[in-house]
Amino acid sequence: MTASAPSSDSAALLERYLNPDTCPTDRLEPLPLIEEPAFVSWQQDIPRSYLGLPPEEIELRIRSARAILGERLVILGHHYQRDEVIQYADFTGDSFKLAQHAAKQQGIEFVLFCGVHFMAESADILTPPGVSVVLPNMEAGCSMADMADPGDVYAAWDEMQACLDPSKRIIPVTYMNSAASLKAFVGKREGIVCTSSNAPKTFEYAFERGEKVLFFPDQHLGRNTGYKMGIPLEEMVTWDWRRPLGGLTPDQIEKARVILWKGHCSTHQRFSVDQIEKARSEYPDLNVIVHPECSWEVVEAADASGSTEQIIKTVSDAEAGTAWGIGTEINLVKRLADEHPDKTIFCLDPVVCPCSTMYRIHPAYLAWTLERLTQGEIVNRVEVDTKTRKWSLVALERMLALP
Ligand code: SF4
Repeated sequence: MTASAPSSDSAALLERYLNPDTCPTDRLEPLPLIEEPAFVSWQQDIPRSYLGLPPEEIELRIRSARAILGERLVILGHHYQRDEVIQYADFTGDSFKLAQHAAKQQGIEFVLFCGVHFMAESADILTPPGVSVVLPNMEAGCSMADMADPGDVYAAWDEMQACLDPSKRIIPVTYMNSAASLKAFVGKREGIVCTSSNAPKTFEYAFERGEKVLFFPDQHLGRNTGYKMGIPLEEMVTWDWRRPLGGLTPDQIEKARVILWKGHCSTHQRFSVDQIEKARSEYPDLNVIVHPECSWEVVEAADASGSTEQIIKTVSDAEAGTAWGIGTEINLVKRLADEHPDKTIFCLDPVVCPCSTMYRIHPAYLAWTLERLTQGEIVNRVEVDTKTRKWSLVALERMLALP
């Protein structure tokens, strides 16, 4: 059944939500699905009966379905999920940690993946064949992953090979945030998958096997990783996938050690050096930590950078009374602030919004998909075909085997 069109109230809320000056971080309270400002762009074929359910009823129904499914089910939750979703997770983590959890699962039938599409694909690849992976809302994608269209990557690979001396090997490295077909692409070409937790090790892996690295889709993680490993900025070029030969000359490609795909995270690119300077002027002893998906300038202006797990550990281990300005997704920052009232913790961007695609996992979708599982029906299954699975598993296992 198709959901009704949004009301004029919903349209007004959507307008407010899309305005960067009025997107308020404190409006993260639970709402019935139909009242979510951006619902118009979410999976609409959820049955109508779930649209207006109040948060308390949804919670009761999720807990009831969860109890019926018992040990047949594991729920994985990414740190960027909202509180009213992450509360149901059996395991939480960043994409690397969740991939490790998926790989360890034994004797279950279902994984409910509260994250985005590429993570659910990786879970399907890493779990045994009999396990079904469910993504509560199929519209929960990743705008960065979408910037590396597989056809564009295959064409770019051929173009750069054609203008290089055949003795110069390029090793492709894909960020976890990419389609399974691209993980298979790198698996077939001696490449590897990386996450923000292990990117330096994957660069070392690549440079042990070739002269150059093609890194996609996030130019910032690639640039920040290469720079920290001592590669000068001028030896890293950016491949603009909208332009012939990536907007580069054959000479630039020949001289480059790292070729960076021109992709970015729409959430992390909002952080700026100005925000850091302003925060430091307000809190003289401020510690600034940012995610490496932020720009090189932001990472250089910060005191530290690290993956989501590294940010959590650094801030959690810090002494009481310290102040932390953090450059990452707001749900995680707010949760850290709630868990550590003895420290001053805030997001560097005062109007930062949640990752809009992660936010598409509303509890109503959990209720819907879980209740269907209790009735023997799998909706929103994410399934990677056998051929893609084979080669993407090779690339993922290379990553998981890194010391
Ligand atoms: S935070 Fe950025 S990289 Fe992560 S899922 Fe959202 S858009 Fe993609």
